[in-house]
Formats: sequence, structure tokens, C-alpha cells
Amino acid sequence: MDINAPASELKNIGPHRLALLRRMGIRDVLDIIEHFPKDYEDRTKIVEPSEAASGEFNAVKARVAKPAENAPSNGKIVTSLALSGEDGALSAIWINQPYLSRQFRRGETYIFGGRVEEFFGKKTMRAPDFEKCSSKPLLSFGRITPVYPVTAGISQKMMRGFIKTALDGVRGGIVDRVPERTRLKYGLCEKESAVFGVHFPKSAREFSEARARLAFEEMFVTMCALIKMKGELRSVSRFTCEKTDVSPFERRLGFSFTAAQRRALDEIEADMRSGYVMNRLVQGDVGSGKTAIMAAAAYIAVKNGGQAAIMAPTEVLARQHMKFFESAFAPLGINAVVLVGSLNRREKSQALSDIEDGSVQIIIGTHALIQPRVAFYALSLVITDEQHRFGVAQRAALANKGLSPHSLVMSATPIPRTLGLILYADMDISIIDEIPPGRVPISSYAVTSAYRRRVFAFIEKEARNGGQAYVICPAIDNEETQSVIRYADMARKLMPGLTVARLHGKMNAIDKNDVMARFARGEISVLVSTTVIEVGVNAPNATVALIENAERFGLSQLHQLRGRVGRGQKKSYCVLITDSESETTKRRVKAFTDTTDGFAISELDLDLRGPGDFFGVKQHGLPEFKIVNLYRDISALKIAQEAAKDTLDRDPRLILEENAALAQAVERFLKRAETAAVL
Ligand code: ADP
Ligand code: MG
Repeated sequence: MDINAPASELKNIGPHRLALLRRMGIRDVLDIIEHFPKDYEDRTKIVEPSEAASGEFNAVKARVAKPAENAPSNGKIVTSLALSGEDGALSAIWINQPYLSRQFRRGETYIFGGRVEEFFGKKTMRAPDFEKCSSKPLLSFGRITPVYPVTAGISQKMMRGFIKTALDGVRGGIVDRVPERTRLKYGLCEKESAVFGVHFPKSAREFSEARARLAFEEMFVTMCALIKMKGELRSVSRFTCEKTDVSPFERRLGFSFTAAQRRALDEIEADMRSGYVMNRLVQGDVGSGKTAIMAAAAYIAVKNGGQAAIMAPTEVLARQHMKFFESAFAPLGINAVVLVGSLNRREKSQALSDIEDGSVQIIIGTHALIQPRVAFYALSLVITDEQHRFGVAQRAALANKGLSPHSLVMSATPIPRTLGLILYADMDISIIDEIPPGRVPISSYAVTSAYRRRVFAFIEKEARNGGQAYVICPAIDNEETQSVIRYADMARKLMPGLTVARLHGKMNAIDKNDVMARFARGEISVLVSTTVIEVGVNAPNATVALIENAERFGLSQLHQLRGRVGRGQKKSYCVLITDSESETTKRRVKAFTDTTDGFAISELDLDLRGPGDFFGVKQHGLPEFKIVNLYRDISALKIAQEAAKDTLDRDPRLILEENAALAQAVERFLKRAETAAVL
């Protein structure tokens, strides 16, 4: 069987199942084989009915004593099956699966797996898994049994069957993407035995060794792809800059750069003068002053005859940047324009023609900016703000588009530093590890909702002294509008003297901009909002961030939200309201109120939420792994990176015969990243 044949070549996969599998990202036989277990259960032990322990999982061997019966009960259909063993009896029941009754013939022996319950001395299994005893080999029992990620319509049993058929079909034909040299150097077993070992392990140990081997391969391929991408990006630039004096711009700022900002800026300038295309990530905690760096980089680009485009994830943020850039640059004779969805036709066509004929040098917008219909006069620098809202896929797409302007991306580092350094391997990195001087530290507290009135009284007091507050609430049942309306009504009732406004994602852009502008002018005291304000919003007069149902937010997200206050000279406060009794929430909340260091918080987030939650989110822009568990495999990741570097040092374009399979896998990775970006 051809390993690259569509999955439908396998028996038992028809159009319906094929569609379900596709939705899980499985297209061909290779995908089936690389659909790795997320866990396994030790089902080696098979017992007689008399030995089955109630309240626990058991695999019980039993004979069908009489045909199964379907009977209605409370509007449901209950299928019951009487079973007997060498000694003792038990029964199995299923709800609303009447077709199962046809499955069992009297006298046949099966193994049933599930929890055993005991009613009046009678043992019963509810909806057990089962497999005919005569099946050769047994897939679900009598061994360490893999547990796969599945979806509605595809059961564990089916998945095990697909994988078994696929493996039998390709035996001897599984190519190793890890070149032999690397495999030997790191003492790894051969690919094929690892694949069999992970799907059909003979022991827990074999499973974990096989898993580690395959995880290494996945990381290795990813690292090779990222590093190779970086090499290809390193192309000669059409926009090489001269040494540029940024002091005229700096004087407009009203502050001088911190040492960390200056270092980042020096690195950016060096890139732009190097003769090669810049591809740099600037990581800095919330409030570390990334906007000024973006503006300085734009200044360098413009002073060297180019245009700079600044891409923000939301229109609110784009408009806010526009205000800052305009006030900094207009006196220097540099023109900026904002290009966003809510412009009217006339404004839009004016903007487009100004961009095309070069009468504006700085263009700020959402990612509509990189649409083909936007024609630039001389685009020499693209800056992406809040990079974690975009992903590795977009980076790959951009890289493959063959755009050759310099690229600068800004990130508020929601992931641990070590991980960032590895997973952003396709970029050079500058880190801003310093907060501008003169900031008064934010005080953070956590209270229960019984304290809400007191917190509101405190907000009223702050407002009387010219302060402003955010009230941030989660979407309830995915209904963010209702949630914002409810909390805003409550705020109005409890703080009748204050102007309360609402902001949520479903509002149209014009209304959103209007609310933000009024908040910035101080006409609104309390802004009730969802996480739309999470990224980048800067209102230095805001001194209180009150976060409702704080347990609904991740630690890194809470940190971003807290970063909306403490941006001016005044003392600021962040108050979490939560009634959650959960231990994890308590630990998370304590960690949050104890530190304001974003890097430390991201490490903790990873620890407390576990990898599933933390990395499942596409928001982080990390590659999606099939078998790698970033939490467990972090040290292996470093080794994979070293191995990838070593391989690409020897063979930068991966053209050697020994790297052929690797080259193909890297192609596959980049192609999939690209299609993912288009979706
Ligand atoms: P972020 O890194 O979160 O994007 P911003 O660029 O929005 O942060 O900066 C936060 C605030 O800090 C802004 O009000 C900005 O004017 C101010 N700021 C930035 N750099 C400095 C500096 N070197 N000294 C004093 N204030 C600064
Ligand atoms: Mg910012």
C-alpha cells in the first residue's frame, strides 16, 4: 500500500468517515499512521465475571447467554445483554443503541471493558467497549491499549482498527525522517519500530520510549522547517538603510529610551543596514514601551526613502497607534494614514492613492493592509504588533509570498522565554526586559463577589480624583453582548454618579472607535468590556482594572488585562472577583497577585493550566504538534533544535541523499502551514 494514498484506500473508510477524519486533519494513510495515541490504558488483565471488581474498570471475558433485548424505558431504548462466564454471570446495558442487539449471537464469547457496577448483588456494565474473543489479534484488550484523539462518529475501536489495517499495509515502508547520522548520534531506535511501539506497545516502557522517539522526530522536523525558513528569508534586501540619527524623533517623545529599548533599536538598525532583509521579533512585557520602538523603526525606514506599514490585530488598536504616530511624526514632516474597514469610500480611495503615490510614508491598519489591492509606493518595512494574535502559519505564508520588505514583529510574550527562543527559531529576537522608570507598581487583589460594592465604592472615589476604570467580564455561554450589558447595568445601578459605557466585539467599528475615543478623552469613567481591550490599549489615566469571574481567564490573559492600567504616573489597582473554590484557581490567583513579571507568569501559567490548555490555544501562534507535549518535552526540544542546526549546517538546502526524507517532511510542514494561514 502506498503510504501517501488517500485514507479512503483503507477498508472500512467510506466517504462519511473520510469526511469526519478530514476534519481531524487526517487525509492520507501516513496521517492515519501518525495519528498517535494521547494516552494508553493497561488492559492486559482479562478477568472472569466473578473476579470483576465493582466500581472499577474491568476487562471481563464472558459468553452471550441469550440474545440481546431492546426495551423502552423513560422514552429511551435500553439494550440489555445477559452474559455468563466459567463461574458467575453479569449483564451489559446500552442506552439508545438498539442496533447493537443484532451484533451478539448466543454462545459467542466476547471481552467487555468498562466500569462494573453492582445492584443487589448483580454485576452490570454500562455501555462497555467490546471485542470478539476470536479476533486475531485483539486490538482493545489483553494489552496496553492506546487511547486516540477521536471525534463524534469515530470510536476508539474504529480508530484502532484503521490504524491496525494501515500499519499492516505499509509494513517495511515507513520512511525515517531523521537522517541516520542524527539517529545514531542521539541513540534513537528506528522509526518503524517506534511507530509500532507507540500504537501497539508491549509494555508501558516501550510506549514511552516509542513516544519520545516520535516526539523527537516531530520537533526535529519542525525545527528544521523553521531554521530553513529563516535561511531562505535571509535574502538580500532592496531596502538597505544608512546610519540614521533618530534623535529628532526621540525628542518628540517626551521621554528618553530605556537601555533595553535602545538595545532593541540598535539591533533593528543593524538589521536594516546589513544588506539583508530583517526578520526580527521584539519580545517585551506589557507596558515595556514597544510602540515607541515601532515608531523609531518606521522613522528609520522613512528617512531612507521607504514606507512603513504597521499591522495591528484590532481596529481600536490601529486607531490608537494612528493618534500616536500622527502626533509624533506630523511635526517632522512625515505623513501617516490609517487604513481600516470603517473608513468611508472617499476616505478609503484617498488613502489608497496616497499610499500608492508615496504622499504618505506611514500606513497603519489591520491585516487588511497586506491585501493585494493595496499598492505601495515603496514599502520597505512591515511591523506586526501583538504578534501572538497571528501565528507561525501566517509567518510561513508571508515568507513564501516573497515579499521583501524588512519585517519586525512585536510580542508581549505570553509564552515562557526558553520556549520562545526555540519556537521562534525562524526569527532573530530582541528582548526588552525593563519597564520604563517612574512607574508606580500596580497593586493586585482578589476578592469574592461579596466585596463588589466596596470595589465599586473605591472606583467612585478614584473617578472623583480624575481616574478611570475598566470592568472586564468574560463572555457567558459565548454570549459576550449579554454579559457586557448585564455588568454595565449593574455598574450603573451601583455607581449612579458615573458615566458608564460598554465595549464588546459585536459592536461595529465606528461605535467601538467612538467609545474608545471618549474614554481616552476622559468623558467616560467606567468602561465595561470583554477582552477586546486585552491587546495594546493605552489609556494612561485608567487606574483600576476590575476583572469579573476571574477564574474564566488564563493567567497570561489576566496579565495582559492588568497591563491596561498602571500606564501613567498614578498608582493603579487590579482587582479580581471570583467565587471559585477550586484549588487550581486559588493557586493561580495567588500567583497573579504575587507578581507582575510577565515572564514569570507565563511559566506559571504553563505549570498550572497544563499543556493542553496552554498550548491548545492557537492564539499563541505556536505550531500544532501531533505527539509532542511541550510541557513534558521541553528538554528534548532543545536537543532537537541542536540536531536541526547541525543538520542544516551540513546541508543548508537539504539536497543530500541522506536528508531526502527530511527534506520532504519539511516541505510538507511548510505547505500545510501555508494552507492553514489561508483558511
Ligand atoms: P507596550 O509595550 O505594552 O506596547 P506601550 O508602547 O503602549 O507599551 O507603552 C506604555 C506606556 O509607556 C506608554 O504610555 C508610553 O508612552 C510609555 N513609555 C514608553 N517608553 C517609555 C520610556 N522610555 N520612558 C517613559 N515612558 C515610556
Ligand atoms: Mg503595545
